[in-house]
Amino acid sequence: MNTTYETVIGLEVHLQLRTETKVFCGCSTKFGSRPNSQTCPVCLGFPGSLPVLNEKAFLYSIKAALALNCAIQSLVKFDRKNYYYPDLPKNFQISQYDMPLSYNGSLEITSGGDRKRVRIKRIHLEEDAGKLTHPAKASYSLVDFNRAGMPLLEIVTEPDISSPQEAYDYLTALKAILQYLRISDCDMEKGSLRCDANASIRKSGEKKLGVKVEVKNMNSFRWVREALQYEADRQVSLLEAKENIIQETRLWDAGKMATISMRSKEEAQDYRYFPEPDLVPFMVEKTIIEEIRKALPELPEARTNRFVKDYSLSEYDAKILTSQIDLADYFEECAKQYENKKTIANWITCDIMAQMNIKNSGIIELGVLSKNLIGLLEMIDSQEISGKTAKDVLIEMIETKKNAYEIVESKGLLQISDRERIDQIIKNVLSKNGKSVNDYKNGKKNAMTFLVGQVMRQTQGKANPSIVNEILKKHLAE
Ligand SMILES: [Zn+2]
Repeated sequence: MNTTYETVIGLEVHLQLRTETKVFCGCSTKFGSRPNSQTCPVCLGFPGSLPVLNEKAFLYSIKAALALNCAIQSLVKFDRKNYYYPDLPKNFQISQYDMPLSYNGSLEITSGGDRKRVRIKRIHLEEDAGKLTHPAKASYSLVDFNRAGMPLLEIVTEPDISSPQEAYDYLTALKAILQYLRISDCDMEKGSLRCDANASIRKSGEKKLGVKVEVKNMNSFRWVREALQYEADRQVSLLEAKENIIQETRLWDAGKMATISMRSKEEAQDYRYFPEPDLVPFMVEKTIIEEIRKALPELPEARTNRFVKDYSLSEYDAKILTSQIDLADYFEECAKQYENKKTIANWITCDIMAQMNIKNSGIIELGVLSKNLIGLLEMIDSQEISGKTAKDVLIEMIETKKNAYEIVESKGLLQISDRERIDQIIKNVLSKNGKSVNDYKNGKKNAMTFLVGQVMRQTQGKANPSIVNEILKKHLAE
């Protein structure tokens, strides 16, 4: 029945900027410190304290806005968003309302093989709220104001996304760009990247938007996709049953794999926005914007294209390698030291990335230096180890941080490529296995597999398989 409906999705991403200090005061932004140890009269909202804008946070915001093709507002103005909640010490949040820092941007993504342009409505700078925790079974809640006043960039799309998978692909592409800009850790687990979604459905072909439901509390891109799928299905069932969809905010419960009603959705007027009187509006000089634009790094898509062109990689490999800036840097470091770029790409996209997945770590934390990976590849090339042994050696390299040669040496893994020695061993095996030799000569070709197995057994698997095959065939043909 889904075929007669279409999903309309808009996403709101909150990105914590990687600055040393908070956005309107000098408190540290360090993660994981003792609760309420990074606070001051400004971020605690004491009467008489005055905010001062963090220049770096502001420049980072412009950088993100330009990378996402936004127009920059020439006059910068902040507003107060008023609401009462225990995590907000001032009872208002400094944000931007009617004149966001930047607007009318776009991000081109690839989803299911199709290209799609997602329009970005606005990007603005604001401060984060504190963090509430609710200890189990306690009759109280705790609040940590270390997060209050952290610089936050809000990136809002137009409702251009038309499936949960597209939302996932948009977020993946956006995260890659933000990482390339090196303005944030983009770590969802630490909360430095958060995403809320608006979802509605309508009959296919209809122009009018359906009733919009906001979904929160999704702490991975995968949950965003699951939650949106659940929400689309839920809304379709309601319409099919001729029931109303209520405009509300719903929370994703990953345990139940369902969204749960939280509250009816606020409208902008509920927040009683007004200009922040303690921060005077100011003009942004065009020269500053142009300087930032010129200094923008090569972004993921451009790098993908360059990898295809310069290293003759497939687009598929190039995309995987450039999906994370550190991985792309690592590949290029390796490429400087080794001729066969395709081999490097294979090792990184298969074996290394498999280990990154298992260990849930980035390439840097994995600890395989580029020169050590190349050392391993060179040992395969010189036939000192087989490709199969090399895979085990790589895992050992990650565990012990030793280089390939040290491991191969200490474990006695060196491959036997000495033709005379292999010839001796084969002669010995053939003399003991006359029956298999006869079987082979009588047309039972799988006797060959048995004989190769015997040679490998005699050498504890260290004989070079291609040399074994070659010499064995020669003898059998005699
Ligand atoms: Zn402070």
